[in-house]
Amino acid sequence: MSNAVLVIGGGIAGMQAALDVANTGHKVVLVEKAPSIGGHMLQFSEVFPTLDCPQCIGTPKMTEVSAHPNIELMTYSEVESVSGSIGRFNVKIRKKSRFIDAARCTGCGECAIACPISVPSEWDLALGQRKAAYIPFPQAVPAVYTIDKTACVECRKCEKVCDAAAINFEAEDEFVERVIGAIILATGYEVFDASLKPELGYGTYPNVITGYELERLDQAGGPTGGKIEVNGKEPQNVVFIQCVGSRDKSVGVEYCSRVCCMATAKQAHYVRHKIPGARVTVCYIDIRAFGKRYEEFYERVQGEGVIYRRGVVSEVYKRDDKLVVRAEDTLLGEMFEEEADLVVLAAGIVPGKATVELAEKLNIPLGPDGFFLENNPKLAAMESGVPGIYLAGCAEGPKDISDSVVQAGAAAFMALLAVVGAEGEPDREPVRS
Ligand code: SF4
Ligand code: SF4
Repeated sequence: MSNAVLVIGGGIAGMQAALDVANTGHKVVLVEKAPSIGGHMLQFSEVFPTLDCPQCIGTPKMTEVSAHPNIELMTYSEVESVSGSIGRFNVKIRKKSRFIDAARCTGCGECAIACPISVPSEWDLALGQRKAAYIPFPQAVPAVYTIDKTACVECRKCEKVCDAAAINFEAEDEFVERVIGAIILATGYEVFDASLKPELGYGTYPNVITGYELERLDQAGGPTGGKIEVNGKEPQNVVFIQCVGSRDKSVGVEYCSRVCCMATAKQAHYVRHKIPGARVTVCYIDIRAFGKRYEEFYERVQGEGVIYRRGVVSEVYKRDDKLVVRAEDTLLGEMFEEEADLVVLAAGIVPGKATVELAEKLNIPLGPDGFFLENNPKLAAMESGVPGIYLAGCAEGPKDISDSVVQAGAAAFMALLAVVGAEGEPDREPVRS
């Protein structure tokens, strides 16, 4: 039997669960598939309803996770296989090669400066570029660079400038095995692909973007240095469209993504704050401002001049050099058109592509929405239905940061109940990369 807990996913829910378990003295193995922990939250410019800076909340947690003596952190890693049951899961983890030795890399960034290859940055949602030798964002944890072999042309310029001799093009993936008492799934979510609604023009018109992309434009560390611009000009007419890929049977998503109403209100506030003269219109189906101080925030942005029209959008098309949003105002019972320089789609939350594969490895069920199925949505949303496996954050279904953190704490508590009293595994050299 093992008293250690495996946390899969290093976003806000995974970090919270890992810290809650580790702070009781239990060992945690935290596995994150991306090169850095942090998750989506760090990509946002501000968080609702307080308009706090997410980096100010997230980066101290990232540092705490990486420095915690009870947390073994494995980034750029994936769970390869799981066998056993509560109290004794045998877990095999693949540590993908970064082609840069994490123990040697000082994070100096010289390799990225020397690298001649630029590709779209995943972190900036392809609105900016990164090098083939890269770190996803400046505050990444661990502060270790990675070589993207799919982009690299093996010119070896990076190798010549690396004083730490950290680069190793021959490095291979490594496998490590751990015996684990309980598992917490905090695998997060992906963003609905808005091009699946072609009538809204995403992927056709460059000035139709998602709310996530607007977050990158508004963030001071983003690709425009915090300027909300279209072709180098501030948009004067901005239309937000809600429920894109949520509550929409035509694309197979029946559920509400729960965060988009408030995220849209926040992003409408960004536009009015940065471009005070801009006309900002939100086309909504219903407003779901259910959390603490959410309704007040929704009232606030209307007071800032944001126009809300209850309307179902039928299409976005181009007339001369302007976009036109065509919609039905369902309160007035009439069609209307709104010209726009920028259209922002509130793309919904969908399960990660790896969810099905992970569910098979763990032999746990998925719900009809594709997220991990909870034992009881009212009484035990943090339990998976399989003893010893618990759910946190958007792995179980769409939820905002506050609810993700609360569920992470509940999952950590359940995992601790499962392993308390078991013997610890023998000490070994922990992985910290
Ligand atoms: Fe610096 Fe070398 Fe690490 Fe690149 S790989 S950041 S050059 S130490
Ligand atoms: Fe960039 Fe690859 Fe050349 Fe290194 S070898 S500088 S990562 S293209």
